Amino acid sequence: ENNRWAGILHAGKRDEAEQTIFDKIVAKSIPSQVVFEDDKVLVFKDINPQAPTHLLVIPKRRETLSQLRFATAEHEGILGHMLAVVAKVASEEGLGDYRLVVNDGRGAGQEVFHLHMHVLAGRPLTWPPG
Ligand code: IMP
Repeated sequence: ENNRWAGILHAGKRDEAEQTIFDKIVAKSIPSQVVFEDDKVLVFKDINPQAPTHLLVIPKRRETLSQLRFATAEHEGILGHMLAVVAKVASEEGLGDYRLVVNDGRGAGQEVFHLHMHVLAGRPLTWPPG
């Protein structure tokens, strides 16, 4: 098992993230409330919602990116796809106005180092955020 992940991590070049709880969610070894999924992304409900609707959008392949700052041109495909999925889910779930958040780094509130987008909706969202 270690060897398997070592190979993946080397394939990830600069971005040498450890496994996170999101890997287990992708593998379905821990449960989540899935709202949408395809071969590239999973959208599921945040376990500690900060709004009536709080969804997380993640790439299934965690080695893609641990955080946004490591994105390069090779990530444009998955990043664009994630945004298109946000728009599709927001429409299909009837979210109305929503906020899309990426916390990049601990000082910005990032706790899980597997790239994810937060989708928050269902209440007035003030600006600036805290
Ligand atoms: P971050 O703080 O931007 O890294 O966001 C991580 C998010 O993952 C937080 O909003 C957590 O509530 C959420 N989270 C952590 N563990 C789980 C889980 O097992 N299921 C669903 N959401 C989770």
